[in-house]
Amino acid sequence: MELWIQPCTPCADLYGQASAVEPHDTLTLVGAGAVKDARAEQHYTCTRCRAAFVRILAGEPRTQIWMLLNAAQH
Ligand SMILES: [Zn+2]
Repeated sequence: MELWIQPCTPCADLYGQASAVEPHDTLTLVGAGAVKDARAEQHYTCTRCRAAFVRILAGEPRTQIWMLLNAAQH
């Protein structure tokens, strides 16, 4: 079961940050063009720890954050 990963330090730091923050070197943009509305959200995975992020770019400012989809909360 590899669904829940332990995020690397840059990923742990990025989680919950404003989406205006730039992704770090090991984050790779995925699904470009496949996402319904690329202006609204972008999906990234980390090549180091395999974290899956959603970068929310639309909606209310407080919801425009980096969300980590598959990290264990401990
Ligand atoms: Zn990572």
